[in-house]
Amino acid sequence: MGKKFALKGIIAFTKERNQFTIMENAYLVCDGSIVAGCYEELPALYSNVPVFDTNGKIIIPGTCDIHLHAAQFPFQGIGQNIENSEWNTWFDRYAFPDESRFNDLDYARHAYTQFAEALLRTPTTRLCAYNTPNTASTELLMRILADYGFAGYVGKVNMDRNSSAGLLETTAETLCSTREWLERCRGGIGGFYPIITPRYFPSCTPESLQGLGALAREYNVPVQSHLSEGLDEIAWVKELDPTLEYYAQAYDRAGLLGPTPRSVMAHCVFSTAAERQKLKENHVLIAHCPQSNMNSSGQTAPILDYLEDGIEVGLGTDVGGGNTLNMFRTIFEAILASKVHWANQEAAGRPLEPRRILTLPAAFYLATKGGGVLWHSGSFEPGYRFDAVILDDSRLQNDIPRTPYERLERLITRSDDREIVAKYINGTCVFQRGEN
Ligand code: FE
Repeated sequence: MGKKFALKGIIAFTKERNQFTIMENAYLVCDGSIVAGCYEELPALYSNVPVFDTNGKIIIPGTCDIHLHAAQFPFQGIGQNIENSEWNTWFDRYAFPDESRFNDLDYARHAYTQFAEALLRTPTTRLCAYNTPNTASTELLMRILADYGFAGYVGKVNMDRNSSAGLLETTAETLCSTREWLERCRGGIGGFYPIITPRYFPSCTPESLQGLGALAREYNVPVQSHLSEGLDEIAWVKELDPTLEYYAQAYDRAGLLGPTPRSVMAHCVFSTAAERQKLKENHVLIAHCPQSNMNSSGQTAPILDYLEDGIEVGLGTDVGGGNTLNMFRTIFEAILASKVHWANQEAAGRPLEPRRILTLPAAFYLATKGGGVLWHSGSFEPGYRFDAVILDDSRLQNDIPRTPYERLERLITRSDDREIVAKYINGTCVFQRGEN
């Protein structure tokens, strides 16, 4: 791990929310697998390291997609415009039948190779992914993503009620298969580690949640699930357990809501004051999925309130709930969702109210350092993981010169896979345009 080198170009990252740090003609130095620092001039210690000059391209930290259903990639973009309003139709017609295909390992290998290939051509370097209940295809997903150079967490999904054939396990089966899976990959597969993944309370009995909480503690493995995504879902949760004061209590009672091991909860669109307080106390990381929220139910989460309350937030594509794996789209949609939220929830009827929306650097922060808190990734401060993406905006340029900030904004709002030049994870180049 003695590799030392520097990338030269326009370096942009968010040390803190609401403000970019942008350095032109600067050096981003990698020492081993971590960031040594960003410098205007190379310090004497690194004066002899190889320098890769990007010739004025923009270098950003890789994005961290902290809520992503890998097994939903084959039907991404399909099924979100179903003619009736019953959201279970989406599960019955698309999610469950498609996810059960991953019991066939040949299918899983092909589908996950396509998934990893697509992910390579996005700004994402780290992820928290869901597979299905099948443990063999969970390990296969970990192996394929690791072979492509990615890092992060993958979860075997648990469902011991309200599921379908090919996915439903008994309580004993789901706990037993999870333990066996943890035994096999507790030390990681490449850069991938297990994460305990009860799908959500309606598909997990209190008994399985208790058992999963015990496994999370025994193996010191983090947890991911869904929380307060829709009002119909919350009503169902209350019906399943009328003693719950708020939805997250179902996870908290089982020890699945942090603070140790850490917990990542997706959506949190309708978290009550009591639930928010618990999320804050337990350092739960919210995976904000703005596109999925708007696409599946037309809802927006009060993300600015969460941030101002001191709750930690990162971003996720969610995959099946949206139409992209590209976290730049998710940054754009997080800003868009905050504008819709402001207009409808806060300024309704008062158009002259000052706008309270997510800024571009704040949304970028959520996509990088916000979710990157799980790995000490997503920033170019010294000591962070050297996860970097080089972007070429020449296709998007015109006759009007723009500032680096504007060029980055345009990349985030308008770029696609053509602008991704190279990608580094833990200091290793995993993608180079024209060579992969
Ligand atoms: Fe999800």
